[in-house]
Amino acid sequence: MTNEDTFRWLERVADVLQENAAYLTQLDSAIGDADHGTNMARGFKAVRDKFPTMASMDMAAQLKTVGTTLVSTVGGASGPLYGTAFLRAGTAITGKQELAAADVIAMLEAFLGGIVARGKAQLNEKTIVDALTPAVNAAKQALNEGATLKEITSRATQAAEEGMKATIPMLATKGRASYLGERSIGYQDPGATSSWLILRSLSEVI
Ligand code: ADP
Ligand code: MG
Repeated sequence: MTNEDTFRWLERVADVLQENAAYLTQLDSAIGDADHGTNMARGFKAVRDKFPTMASMDMAAQLKTVGTTLVSTVGGASGPLYGTAFLRAGTAITGKQELAAADVIAMLEAFLGGIVARGKAQLNEKTIVDALTPAVNAAKQALNEGATLKEITSRATQAAEEGMKATIPMLATKGRASYLGERSIGYQDPGATSSWLILRSLSEVI
């Protein structure tokens, strides 16, 4: 991956989150406050406004710019969470002009690490972590098996989708959905869904 690829990934994320804003907000209306789609779309609209200056940045700077922009423009829980994720992902690849498969995995692992550092969620709490953890594990396994970057990102996306669907029967114990207690069961987690979309966008670009 070059800085043109990371830029195309971010462009794709901005488009996909905008296209899926109503869907994400609908998911959040069942177990939250019906704003996850608008939160993500607002954050990436602000990112989009910076695209003209971001195109020529190195890839670490691009990701860090996304991180600071999300932190400063998204009010909900997802702003600081994804903001920290993109900041850490950028830090993980600082100084690199090109990413090999192992670097991409290190970037994804740092992304997940940012979510965990900020939100302190563990597996099975019905959050972003439940989509990203299996995705990072699948990516590592694919790398060990000698898969190409294309296969790695595709298998990570598939694992994220499965993790996202596995949030449906979960009881939420973190975030706003946890206020519902047992009534959070039976609904797909909005944040797990947006993180699947972010990974799917990466896979599409690769
Ligand atoms: P808010 O909950 O403030 O309205 P959003 O609706 O934008 O923010 O985001 C909700 C999503 O944030 C949830 O679906 C969940 O996936 C994610 N989330 C909430 N708290 C945490 C946490 N502590 N760790 C990881 N993800 C979390
Ligand atoms: Mg919400």
